[in-house]
Amino acid sequence: MLWLALGPVHAMESQVLVIRIKIPNSGAVDWTVHSGPQLLFRDVLDVIGQVLPEATTTAFEYEDEDGDRITVRSDEEMKAMLSYYYSTVMEQQVNGQLIEPLQIFPRACKPPGERNIHGLKVNTRAGPSQHSSPAVSDSLPSNSLKKSSAELKKILANGQMNEQDIRYRDTLGHGNGGTVYKAHHVLSGKILAVKVILLDITLELQKQIMSELEILYKCDSSYIIGFYGAFFVENRISICTEFMDGGSLDVYRKIPEHVLGRIAVAVVKGLTYLWSLKILHRDVKPSNMLVNTRGQVKLCDFGVSTQLVNSIAKTYVGTNAYMAPERISGEQYGIHSDVWSLGISFMEIQKNQGSLMPLQLLQCIVDEDSPVLPVGEFSEPFVHFITQCMRKQPKERPAPEELMGHPFIMQFNDGNATVVSMWVCRALEERRSQQGPP
Ligand code: ATP
Ligand code: MG
Repeated sequence: MLWLALGPVHAMESQVLVIRIKIPNSGAVDWTVHSGPQLLFRDVLDVIGQVLPEATTTAFEYEDEDGDRITVRSDEEMKAMLSYYYSTVMEQQVNGQLIEPLQIFPRACKPPGERNIHGLKVNTRAGPSQHSSPAVSDSLPSNSLKKSSAELKKILANGQMNEQDIRYRDTLGHGNGGTVYKAHHVLSGKILAVKVILLDITLELQKQIMSELEILYKCDSSYIIGFYGAFFVENRISICTEFMDGGSLDVYRKIPEHVLGRIAVAVVKGLTYLWSLKILHRDVKPSNMLVNTRGQVKLCDFGVSTQLVNSIAKTYVGTNAYMAPERISGEQYGIHSDVWSLGISFMEIQKNQGSLMPLQLLQCIVDEDSPVLPVGEFSEPFVHFITQCMRKQPKERPAPEELMGHPFIMQFNDGNATVVSMWVCRALEERRSQQGPP
């Protein structure tokens, strides 16, 4: 066996992942990856390309617990593999065993050009890698993923989003006004989340909405959902965004505090980013906080288009239980109102009462003291954080920099995506096993 990268394998603690690339008939090469959960399918193919320059590898396989080979050809399948692998690592850790590397078996396929991973007619294999650092050898060229995904984003955003190129798959959920679908973008091969909203409005208003949505192209934060484009067909608008395979936080049961803390850090950073662009979210709630198996947490459905918000409001009447008291009373909305919703969202997630209080109780939020979390059941910094966010007087709630400096946020602001990644993977596994075979 050829050892190009050695070292202790503490996959879970340090996010270090060792991938053992099996070479047909001649041993294996170990590759140390420093950001396992962020690893993309292309990262792996690029490294296989360096290890086996002669072959044209377009897929690889791994073995499940029964020794059956499972093929990986996409980011989705990669995530499933990593999720499976991390669950085996967890088992090995629990049993005090040495952690086995993740073994993969490259599959040589058709010559290049016939099939490009993203299905794009662009050269996506150029430039230095940013997502992972293959420790194989410094002399080996590494390929750019950052660039390719930026390029992909540009292509997706460049007026190429339209109904004909989208194949709708599952329904991800219905909201107050729209339905969100998981969809396949044929041109790019990307999986998208497409929100379709029925709107009976004039062409003039449609144009206004489209121009207001333009700002979404400029949003560039890892805590904000990626925007690929929007289009009107007849009386409905489709808004195409990045698909988050962990879904939204409202469907998770009570979240362990070390996981919740990391989620809260991302949400606070996402909000701070929006506020820095002078965008108020206006709809902070668990169903608008999305997670994925890479451990990322992103905000969606923020009110960038006043016209869109108004048009939806005309069709669908609604108040929601996450609204700040001053908003329920029809007073001015500001950053502080988003902060209230942040507090009540995290309180709701932890109390896990399913649907929040009935609408008639909303008046209580206006008239009575804010609800508080039971002390003893939750940590002191968490209870303090929630209490501060839910102060009745908007000005008494923490300002953005105070949120970031709060002990609950500081404690978990360590950039550890593995914690969230593992928790999402495990929750999805549990959900799958409860649902049984498809
Ligand atoms: P509201 O319409 O009041 O905002 P909502 O957030 O529950 O309520 P939608 O925004 O329509 O409703 O979303 C419906 C569901 O679709 C969400 O609860 C979420 O689980 C899922 N969803 C939305 N966007 C995505 C996405 N980008 N990736 C994965 N799932 C998503
Ligand atoms: Mg939503």
